[in-house]
Amino acid sequence: EAVLAADPEVVIVATGGLPHTEVLAEGDGLVVSAWDILSGDAQPGSNVLIYDDAGDYAALQAAEKIAATGARVEIMTRDRSFAPEVMAMSLTPSMRELQKRDVTFTVTWRLEAVRRDGNELLAIIGSDYGGVTRERRVDQVVVNHGTRPLDDVYFELKEASSNRGEVDYEALVAGRPQAVLRNPEGRFQLFRIGDAVAARNTHAAIYDALRLVKDL
Ligand SMILES: Cc1cc2nc3c(=O)[nH]c(=O)nc-3n(C[C@H](O)[C@H](O)[C@H](O)COP(=O)(O)OP(=O)(O)OC[C@H]3O[C@@H](n4cnc5c(N)ncnc54)[C@H](O)[C@@H]3O)c2cc1C
Repeated sequence: EAVLAADPEVVIVATGGLPHTEVLAEGDGLVVSAWDILSGDAQPGSNVLIYDDAGDYAALQAAEKIAATGARVEIMTRDRSFAPEVMAMSLTPSMRELQKRDVTFTVTWRLEAVRRDGNELLAIIGSDYGGVTRERRVDQVVVNHGTRPLDDVYFELKEASSNRGEVDYEALVAGRPQAVLRNPEGRFQLFRIGDAVAARNTHAAIYDALRLVKDL
């Protein structure tokens, strides 16, 4: 209603995403997200397993915050290298902090389930390569699995827009203005950019924006 009241010619939804951690066969309710740690919604544990299934910045930053308290921290990924989405210039300061505090990096292992066992959490670990199971006893499990688009506003506006939210990607890549017309009654064009489309990074969000707004 607020958007329509402004009677816009173009609406660009840039509402980002929110983390999700529902990735386990059992125990989703026992884990916290990297965002919970960074926002302070969850206090760092003292013996922590960080399962990083996204390979992006949030896991390393959460690890830094937890390790700074003196906690024992292990970062685990099912990938064969850790943090592939973090570029070298950002990785360097993170690694300086994490190695100084003896954070452990474990590659090629996958968190499958988390169970409560008294005051502890029992993490069940498997492998994409099969045939092996391990356990970890910790007091906190952090799951970093990227974000899901926060796209309610986009979908609420979609039907009323002239392009029904559609982007002509060939035109976008070629640097031409957007001219999709699906609903002649529509009074505004609708686009979404950045993490509201898919979990990515600031470069993708800025580049999406640049390619759309240069023609407005
Ligand atoms: C801890 C962390 C570290 C990161 N470090 C890096 C990095 O070093 N380099 C990099 O490239 N990327 C990094 N990223 C990823 C990067 O932050 C995101 O990809 C980027 O911010 C996405 O930009 P965006 O504009 O799409 O969304 P966002 O930056 O998430 O902005 C969305 C905004 O919309 C607002 N909003 C949501 N709903 C509504 C609504 N209904 N009405 C009004 N406002 C609304 C939100 O409050 C928010 O301010 C990091 C992410 C995290 C979590």
